[in-house]
Amino acid sequence: MSNRTPGLVCAHHHLYSTLARGMPAPPSAPTDFISTLQQVWWRLDAQLDAEMLYWSAALGAAEALMSGTTSIIDHHESPNFIEGSLDVIAKACADIGVRVNTCFGATDRWTDKGSLIDSVNPNSSMTGAARRALDECDRYLSAGGRGMVGLHAAFTCSNETLEMATELAKKHTVGVHIHVAEGLHDAGAGERLEAITSDDWLLVHCVLLDRLLKGRIVHNPRSNMNNSVGYSKPSRRTNTTLLGTDGIGSDMLEEFRLAYARLREFDIKENPATAWAWLENGYHYFPESREDVVVWSYDAVDDPWKLAFTTGVHPVEVIVDGKTVVKNSMPTTFDIHEVRQKASEQAKRLHERL
Ligand SMILES: [Zn+2]
Repeated sequence: MSNRTPGLVCAHHHLYSTLARGMPAPPSAPTDFISTLQQVWWRLDAQLDAEMLYWSAALGAAEALMSGTTSIIDHHESPNFIEGSLDVIAKACADIGVRVNTCFGATDRWTDKGSLIDSVNPNSSMTGAARRALDECDRYLSAGGRGMVGLHAAFTCSNETLEMATELAKKHTVGVHIHVAEGLHDAGAGERLEAITSDDWLLVHCVLLDRLLKGRIVHNPRSNMNNSVGYSKPSRRTNTTLLGTDGIGSDMLEEFRLAYARLREFDIKENPATAWAWLENGYHYFPESREDVVVWSYDAVDDPWKLAFTTGVHPVEVIVDGKTVVKNSMPTTFDIHEVRQKASEQAKRLHERL
């Protein structure tokens, strides 16, 4: 029995979305996957500026650390603040003390005339916005930033953009981080991506994916339930599975419990060790997180069978790179009240624009 684990890894996050909580209700209530994107996320991300993004990422990182999550794979979009945005996220995470691997998600859904379209003709030309997004990934990676090449999703990208992202990822010897077949609008993603994916791609969701693609799959059980897109059945696929939150915080013990509950709902013969292994697969991207130490409020965190049925377990102490950054469940290197206050001021500015 042990009350310790290594630092946890969130394999898919959107640190830009932390300030979405409490945002005004959209003009019309979403009724499906695509209208959720149109009414909530594509309205929110278009309003982000540098200051909002910094405090959104800082609060997201602070909450991660206080949940025992010491490393995050982030997927970013802010179409009206592209150049330098990945540096802002990296700085916020460094200031808080959380490792991050980030990327800008390129998309052709913003036409060169500035209008927003739902689905992009695969044969259309790459837009200026997608070009700038890939340039931002290139710039950040060339400067030594830790990240990948981002794509939003196949249904909002031209073939030209998919191909350019693939080439850019090869140049930097990183994978592409992309949403895949999350909902009906992207159900054709498998056919579009089949010829270009490789083992180092990070394929997020794959709920409706109709074929085997090369790459690792990130399962986000809470987000999939929240968006009513169905269960992705990761245990039926041969790909390595990782666990993410898709931007709904980064409490990975909570996500593990949810992943187990959904797995067990699907297959009564399954057991919590499967979901725990998915969580541990995140160490591929952050091997140094294995050396971090999280001391929990429960003395059997090394037993998935106990942990899956024990709620309310929280970190008492977190040690990152040998330094104690959380003690008595409170951060030692920053003032969480100040972070919450600054984030709340930026949330107010953001919500006023919506
Ligand atoms: Zn996502």
